[in-house]
Amino acid sequence: MRTSAARAPERSGFAVDASTGWLGCARRVESPNCDDRPRGVRPDLLVVHGISLPPGEFGGPWIDALFTNTLPPDAHPYFAEVAALRVSAHALVRRDGEIVQYVPFHRRAWHAGQSRWAGRERCNDFSIGIELEGTDARPYEPAQYAALSHLVAALCRAYATLSPDHIVGHSDVAPGRKTDPGIAFDWPMLRTLVRYELEVAPA
Ligand SMILES: [Zn+2]
Repeated sequence: MRTSAARAPERSGFAVDASTGWLGCARRVESPNCDDRPRGVRPDLLVVHGISLPPGEFGGPWIDALFTNTLPPDAHPYFAEVAALRVSAHALVRRDGEIVQYVPFHRRAWHAGQSRWAGRERCNDFSIGIELEGTDARPYEPAQYAALSHLVAALCRAYATLSPDHIVGHSDVAPGRKTDPGIAFDWPMLRTLVRYELEVAPA
């Protein structure tokens, strides 16, 4: 797949430094909304989310603002509902494929809320949360699938506990409460691309 968007990083930039937890090619915006994982717990699950602020609008500065507790509650009616939340994700893939990282991957981001996977509660403890800029019903961009698959492959290389078989949606770990990344998200496409990245593409 070709990544045509100018801001989408090249594959060669996708390396995660496991000692610092940062992705080399990401634009870094550090969020205070994180803490340590429980002692001895390594991430073994990837949770894919969808987000847009305001809902259905893309390209603004508001997701960065939400994750850094600087969202102005009076800038949009919806913001008043969410401005006081203390939330984050490890990374965001924007519509053009740009990756923003908010939390080092070995630390605990606050993305899943009340959640459960394979009999384990509190998925934040053991997962990495990746937001896609989008909505449940509108197709995600090819540049986002390309960047996400590069990121997932880089994470699987950096953290041996991660697996391409353990990637779920927020809706899978919080059913009935969350619907993202939504019906528009093409899981077979992601799995095909991740398999290609890990098995065929040069690291
Ligand atoms: Zn979510």
